[in-house]
Amino acid sequence: MRRILEQSINYLLPPNCICCNKVGLKLAAFSQLTICSECLSMFIPEVPDRRWFTLLSEPFSKDEHPELTLYMPFAYGEIFARVIPKMKFKPEIRIAQFLGILLGSIMCEDKISASLIVPVPLSKSRQKERGFNQAYEIAKQVGIRMQVPVSPDILVRLRDTYRQSEMKKNALRFSNVENAFEVNKEWDLEGNTVILIDDVATTGSTLHEAAVALLAGGCEKVLCCAVAGNRNVKNDEPY
Ligand SMILES: [Zn+2]
Repeated sequence: MRRILEQSINYLLPPNCICCNKVGLKLAAFSQLTICSECLSMFIPEVPDRRWFTLLSEPFSKDEHPELTLYMPFAYGEIFARVIPKMKFKPEIRIAQFLGILLGSIMCEDKISASLIVPVPLSKSRQKERGFNQAYEIAKQVGIRMQVPVSPDILVRLRDTYRQSEMKKNALRFSNVENAFEVNKEWDLEGNTVILIDDVATTGSTLHEAAVALLAGGCEKVLCCAVAGNRNVKNDEPY
């Protein structure tokens, strides 16, 4: 009965766009998701050549894993500045699902493959506060499209860290997450190639530290991946 009622309401009142809340615009639907054509047209992926970056821990220090690569198909432009805070602080799980659909589709187009997908974990307190881990919601959609299993319990966040967005200096951002992750001892990761997923990469230090933990846990190769960020150091050797 409730379902029929909900469907009737949806029929009478077209659902709001997950990005701008407007109604009455032409809608493109992704299952449960509704996004207006105006917002959809603002998600413009970078050209394939501009999706790959180096992922150094900190430009002035010696990085033990200079080979780590960041794959990031969107620049953090106007639309992301609007939807990312809405996803995290409102919080709006459907935005994470939508970003996962976008990311997964682009990764398939780029023929990226791996044996496992791992989302960057949130601290328990932050996950409780938000109700979900946006990286996991994004990763789930990527996994469906790439047909690769997603494992949210491989990486463990050892301690609470400050919000990276609140740290102004890059060096502070790095020390904030240094050694913050560990691999769950129940997993044997030997020989696995992993795609590590987060929503946004700024300095990339969170992804870097999580990737180092996966390599220490036996992974053969880790590709770090974020939906969006601001980067201009290009990596010449894609994953
Ligand atoms: Zn919209």
